[in-house]
Amino acid sequence: MNFEDLNLAENILKAVHEQGYTQPTPIQAQAIPAVLDGHDLLAGAQTGTGKTAGFTLPLLDKLSRTQPAQPGAIRALVLAPTRELAAQVEESVRTYGKYLDLTSTVIFGGVGMNPQINRIKRGVDILVATPGRLLDLQGQGFIDLSNVEILVLDEADRMLDMGFIHDVKKVLAMLPKAKQSLLFSATFSDEIRELAGNLLKDPKSIQV
Ligand code: AMP
Repeated sequence: MNFEDLNLAENILKAVHEQGYTQPTPIQAQAIPAVLDGHDLLAGAQTGTGKTAGFTLPLLDKLSRTQPAQPGAIRALVLAPTRELAAQVEESVRTYGKYLDLTSTVIFGGVGMNPQINRIKRGVDILVATPGRLLDLQGQGFIDLSNVEILVLDEADRMLDMGFIHDVKKVLAMLPKAKQSLLFSATFSDEIRELAGNLLKDPKSIQV
């Protein structure tokens, strides 16, 4: 299979080709069509499988084809366990979305809040966040999650291992019911299955 077979927007393919990728990885070949079709996703994938592009490419494609319900609204939220992963994911969003008219930012703890607040105030389509800082800024009234169309939980198992289950549940409770949700995890404990069962609607399951 080639990237051309996946029905991604030309401006996304252009950015993908610039990365030198010729073929989608197995997780991408399965995840991209499922997400473009509107399915929720339960994906078992380790780091290094190409999972980031597996959710980022269809997420960008979907957002690029429609207008926001509210100008400046956060349309996609990606939760990641660590600042390093969050920063990496947002870098991928920028790389693959460089020829699209979509904006993104990343927020995480351990650094000053003001630059993050100022960036969010200007409006972003895609927010990548660690759970703690997200709740912090939401609690201070700087983040409105009521227009989120697509949610991604990346490395959900690590998020729970790090003790973020309550934070994650609080964030999920702030999101609209009608949305597309994608959960990526390397392992599947009972806790992950319970989270997935509560969050995902009739998900496609993929395992690589
Ligand atoms: P990830 O599993 O998302 O952390 O990605 C692992 C690495 O694979 C990253 O450095 C990507 O740039 C690279 N990558 C992702 N998709 C592809 C692809 N289709 N072909 C070649 N490399 C890729």
